[in-house]
Amino acid sequence: MTREEVEIQKEGAQILGKVHGLISRMVQPGVRTMQLDAMAQQFITDHGAVPSFKGYRGSAPTPFPGALCISVNEVVVHGIPGNYELKDGDIVSVDCGVHYRGYHSDSAYTYTVGQVSPQVMNLLKHTKASLHLGIAQARTGNRVGDIGHAIQSYTEARGYGVVRELVGHGVGRNLHEKPEVPNYGQRGRGPRLAEGMVLAIEPMITLGRRSVVQEKDGWTIRTSDRKPAAHFEHTVAILDGKPELVTTFSYIDEKFDY
Ligand code: MG
Ligand code: MG
Repeated sequence: MTREEVEIQKEGAQILGKVHGLISRMVQPGVRTMQLDAMAQQFITDHGAVPSFKGYRGSAPTPFPGALCISVNEVVVHGIPGNYELKDGDIVSVDCGVHYRGYHSDSAYTYTVGQVSPQVMNLLKHTKASLHLGIAQARTGNRVGDIGHAIQSYTEARGYGVVRELVGHGVGRNLHEKPEVPNYGQRGRGPRLAEGMVLAIEPMITLGRRSVVQEKDGWTIRTSDRKPAAHFEHTVAILDGKPELVTTFSYIDEKFDY
């Protein structure tokens, strides 16, 4: 994409960032995940944008019903908003996409509900740190494998699992574009990173085993051992050879600044 296209994408990403800001102030015990989704849907449409996920058809038998993927505890990604009431000690990944003036942006953050265990807090901190290590590799001259290697080596060294079945992706006029951006890989392998590429980098990291299963709803992905998983995602453009954040976490309440 050109610098001009990325600037439009960043405008949409501001709306997305503010959704995360509002979510961060709503997340607390007793809130139902469908309430978060309703707020996001309203906010996005009020700002002249469209929620990218609502009605999205993957390989699932039914289109995705929400504006947000809300994934609690052992759910890794693609959780469907519903009646579940958040409770003290939960972690909740909120993933959102916004389509604005022809371009998508995509970002996810894992929030804590009340007090979580130190072990789970560390999982969040390290997963977020691995996202930034992956982003730092998004530069011309590198390859996709450099991103995955950075994420995998950091998280596996700390005893965590790296989910293999789901990956990051290019993002622009379509929500999911080439190349795939795995959270594992080898240095110097995979597609070459080029000027103007825009990537959604999104480590999905587990406290226990790395294997996942899909629930019968055709969307929800959870860990097979039912231990918690964390997920952080930014949309990142490669401009002037270097990574530049398209999405932002800057509206998120500082209590979630892990
Ligand atoms: Mg996402
Ligand atoms: Mg994504």
